[in-house]
Amino acid sequence: MSQLTKLIKTKKLLSYGRFSRLFYSINNNQVLSDSINSSTDDSSIKINLESKFVQGEKSKFHPTYQPGVPRIIPVNPDCNALEGELKLTPSKALWFGGMTLSALVGAILTYDSALMIENLSLFLGSTGISILFGHSLGMHRKFIHNSFQCPKWLEYVLVHLGTLMGIAGPIGMMKAHDMRDWAQRQAPKNGQSQCHPYYGQQESLWKDAYSQLCCSLTLKHPPEIILGEKIEKDRVIQWMERTWMLQQLPYAILFYCIGGWGWVIWGVCARVSISVFGHFYVGWYAHNSGSVQSRSYHVEGASIQGYNVESLPNLRKKSLWGRKIQEIMTAGECYHNNHHAYPGSSKLAIKDNELDIGWNVLKVMEKLGLVWNLRMPQDLPPRKELTKIDE
Ligand SMILES: [Zn+2]
Ligand SMILES: [Zn+2]
Repeated sequence: MSQLTKLIKTKKLLSYGRFSRLFYSINNNQVLSDSINSSTDDSSIKINLESKFVQGEKSKFHPTYQPGVPRIIPVNPDCNALEGELKLTPSKALWFGGMTLSALVGAILTYDSALMIENLSLFLGSTGISILFGHSLGMHRKFIHNSFQCPKWLEYVLVHLGTLMGIAGPIGMMKAHDMRDWAQRQAPKNGQSQCHPYYGQQESLWKDAYSQLCCSLTLKHPPEIILGEKIEKDRVIQWMERTWMLQQLPYAILFYCIGGWGWVIWGVCARVSISVFGHFYVGWYAHNSGSVQSRSYHVEGASIQGYNVESLPNLRKKSLWGRKIQEIMTAGECYHNNHHAYPGSSKLAIKDNELDIGWNVLKVMEKLGLVWNLRMPQDLPPRKELTKIDE
């Protein structure tokens, strides 16, 4: 270590921009001995940027690093969440467009008033299962936030149901979620948001619909996303990621065998279209202020705030029944202001009058011994940037 210490004290290394503190830190921890290649010529000092450990350590000193989003590692000194190019992504547009068109045309072609009740029941039942058990409990509260514990087999079942929602595979969902979370937490500069409008859903509703449903954003100086060995070596999760679109196929075949094309249209195409569109739609209201939204918390220093969506947006005003439908349709995910305040909590409702169906189901599952260690807001470390408000 003595040679390393000598090197670190050289003027050249100390002037290595904003990361100089890192090297002091690493020197103190004596962990970099094999990643710095030393010689008498300063120019030959090489930092092993391939080392994930070093990247992780380095990121903690980057101005855009957010401790609450530990999988996002800003390794590039210019890394930011603002500069980027939004591009039409044909596969995304075709997937959503194809499903929606098939649902609309298929519903007309297979229309039979005698079968409407069974088709609608299949649609509502399968959509509810994939949103509640899959998207909310499996993908969001468990796989992304690890806010409760359950047996591995159950996690796989829930994540599979979340994949069936048709937005992306588990890894795609995790990356998209974490990138948004990291971008939204960036501190504004001179009163200007430092989060790209795509990540904060800040464009007008229909412009954002086009961006979210048909395009992808490529940041000019992106951070790295380090999923960790547990996910990278999980063959079931990797398989689900590779086959996320194909996972609709066995259900399509099963539905066809039982109920013909009507079941395929309502149980797959209509379900996927409404789930993908609904996810964008509620997400837009959950990141913009308005007549159906409210806030109980303000996250100081974040470019984008989350909102609780308290009614059906098309009602344009808060109403009790609108709120109940919203709570049921989103399985409690409509309480997004609460989620921005306590992202690691498995309970999204905070006030007594807020209904979180996902949480109620988790409590039943806990009684059955299927889940345990349900994390609640009071179990999380206090956040000094959090202010209680009533808006
Ligand atoms: Zn959010
Ligand atoms: Zn989240």
